[in-house]
Amino acid sequence: MHVRGVLLPEDEVRDLWLVGDRVSLEPVPGAETLTNRGFILPGLVDAHCHIGIRPGGGPIEAIDEARALAAVDRDAGVLAIRDAGSPYPYPQLDDDPDVPRLARAGRHVAPVRRYLRDIGVEVEASDLPAAMKAQAAAGNGWVKLVGDWIERDAGDLTPAWDIGAMAAAVAAAHAAGARVAVHTFAEESVAALVRAGVDSVEHGTGLGLEDIDEMRRRGTALVPTMINVATFDIIAARAEDKFPSYSRHMLELRERHPAVVAAAHEAAVPIYVGTDAGGGIGHGRAAEEMLLLHERAGMSTMDVLRAASWGARKWLGFTGLVEGGLADLVVYDTDPRVDLRVVRSPRLVVLRGRPVTRA
Ligand SMILES: [Zn+2]
Repeated sequence: MHVRGVLLPEDEVRDLWLVGDRVSLEPVPGAETLTNRGFILPGLVDAHCHIGIRPGGGPIEAIDEARALAAVDRDAGVLAIRDAGSPYPYPQLDDDPDVPRLARAGRHVAPVRRYLRDIGVEVEASDLPAAMKAQAAAGNGWVKLVGDWIERDAGDLTPAWDIGAMAAAVAAAHAAGARVAVHTFAEESVAALVRAGVDSVEHGTGLGLEDIDEMRRRGTALVPTMINVATFDIIAARAEDKFPSYSRHMLELRERHPAVVAAAHEAAVPIYVGTDAGGGIGHGRAAEEMLLLHERAGMSTMDVLRAASWGARKWLGFTGLVEGGLADLVVYDTDPRVDLRVVRSPRLVVLRGRPVTRA
């Protein structure tokens, strides 16, 4: 098959041929032309997504549920997913022709009785290194660590374990060859975890300017999940009576988050698009997260496109639209650099060399 259009980020009219699940720049005689106009991007990435968690919460019970959730993202142009923690193992989906490419963590590594029920492996501090190693083996390159959560006795967010134990956990995952994505909402935990060398900060509502500077120095990524953080008011309202300090804290974190993301972006911290779909957040919302990064955090359309497409692909090890690269692409009718809203409605989505939608 053949596609022609303005290729981004190169900004040149190009012809691409799709041979199997790969890109060829050499003409293939007789190839069917799927499109000969529009703007072509390497497939989008949802860098924080959960296809192993059911809508409403709890683990999926069958692999077809994960396949169906991933299809919602795929049809919206997301052709690679970093699964940021799954209670259900699905290594068999890594090569599924209908599923976006997967960078997967195993199960969330979480503190005992302080995380979403039935989702993570819940471990004491002394068992953290072994748990990180086991979950590195269960995933295909990532481990998800829960860095903080509400502690009912304290009535507020607190670090999930003591800081030294969390640093040892990060080291154990690295020794096992995995990168570490850390869930953090609060200030103290994220400051320590950035300095412990985590590879990505998820949410990052508690980041201060010194932490951001440390991330820039280390090349630590930020996946702000602005769709998720916008729902902190709902969490705060539910918690208000029993945990008023926590409730206030969550509202403060929600309020400051766009400025945190803007400061991180200004400091050249790499930022990636992640919706946190799964559980309370629906799938297929990557475009919405992209628009929030543009409108609320002030990222330029080009920077958002990099965060959602070629930049995120490079970060996760998925090749782009080069000779021999992965034939995953999305085509828009108009230039998304001029008006980003077009990313809501791709004209053509091609996964593994095959069109999945045609308008
Ligand atoms: Zn998540």
